Amino acid sequence: MRLLPEPLIDATHAPKLRSWVESANTADCDFPIQNLPLGRFRPAGEEHAAVRVGVAIGDQILDLKLATDLCPWSEEMYPLLQPLAQGDLMAFMALGRPAWRALRAGLSQALAFDSEQGPFLESCVLPQKNALMQMPARVGDYTDFYSGIHHARRVGALMRPDEPLLPNYKFVPIGYHGRASSVGIEDLVIRPNGQTRSSGEQPHFGACKRLDYELELGLWVGAGNTLGLPVSMAQAEDKIFGVGLLNDWSARDIQGWEYQPLGPFLAKSFATSVSPWVVSWQALAPFRKPYERPVGDPEPLPYLDGDFNRSFGAINMTLEVWLQTARMRKERQPALRLSQSNWAEAAYWTAAQLVAHHTSNGCNLQVGDLLGTGTLSGPLFEQCASLLELTQGGKSPLSLPNGETLGFLQDGDTVTLRGYCTAPGAVRIGLGQVTATVLPALAC
Ligand code: MN
Repeated sequence: MRLLPEPLIDATHAPKLRSWVESANTADCDFPIQNLPLGRFRPAGEEHAAVRVGVAIGDQILDLKLATDLCPWSEEMYPLLQPLAQGDLMAFMALGRPAWRALRAGLSQALAFDSEQGPFLESCVLPQKNALMQMPARVGDYTDFYSGIHHARRVGALMRPDEPLLPNYKFVPIGYHGRASSVGIEDLVIRPNGQTRSSGEQPHFGACKRLDYELELGLWVGAGNTLGLPVSMAQAEDKIFGVGLLNDWSARDIQGWEYQPLGPFLAKSFATSVSPWVVSWQALAPFRKPYERPVGDPEPLPYLDGDFNRSFGAINMTLEVWLQTARMRKERQPALRLSQSNWAEAAYWTAAQLVAHHTSNGCNLQVGDLLGTGTLSGPLFEQCASLLELTQGGKSPLSLPNGETLGFLQDGDTVTLRGYCTAPGAVRIGLGQVTATVLPALAC
């Protein structure tokens, strides 16, 4: 139990802070000194070298193994840096929120423009383009929620025009248990084969014809709870280490045939892509917003409610999907933005509510668990965060500026998700991106 509430905003968020890493000081940078996300990597060309943990700063990475070895640090930093110097981000995550805050404070000082540690650390940075990123953690369990109400309503309307939202939606944060082994950061995804049935026809096994993306966020659990002991709303955010982008690739034709009565299975488990940098929950503090429901909606049940959540529970984060088809790439046309939405507007449930609900039956979360938010679409057409919505279930394909038609994803399409936060008086921070290209299905 904390005696005093920690301030949400502290010296690490100060908008005046600048870094001695010059590229971190540009206005549109995802990784200014106010961000400091952690990730795991190998230096390019050293495929057999041990994995390192690093901090993204500008277009560079501070290698925390070199930084631990070559730079003097204050006494309290060494126990924090020790697991990181060994490439073990999960061991650091398991140290809990006081450790996360202390490391952030120490790194912020060391990377600041006038830092005495700067001269020691200059030899500990490498360009991000020279790093091969790895998974931040081994995902123990992956749960995908359905907190995007506009997505739920639009998809529901395709199947049930008279009752788009089921009666439970505004009371229960809906979710399902996903597949952890196929969550990855690879930049290629193989079109799945699977069983489908068009109306009136015999079931058929073959390549998915309705491949889709879903723009989501992934919450990385950094502290678990004991089996049987639920996490209250007051404790829920202490469990969240950080956030990244998540693409919940979806085979709509497989899904449509297999999902009843037990929900998604092989239509989702062939691939889930996450971004390699984990932006800490603390870095998002300047972008918090009140969590509000439309007038007339039911109040959350008490176990999903709290004063702090109402005042600060939502995060103002802009989210985008970009597409580059094979032909666009060949003709050297840049990627095209397909949608732009916002986490706070899209989500009916906050991160704290997802954690509190997940553990409300006593289910234990563990370090490295990943919670997907669900597809984060807004109410407008240009805020549709899946092709299922943008094309109304494939019935209304889009015309791209180069004359191509976009229904569902084609082989060679590259899908990129981006996210960033802006607020008056705060320095913009970003999540980086997650990008992957669709490869043809294997012969079957
Ligand atoms: Mn999903």
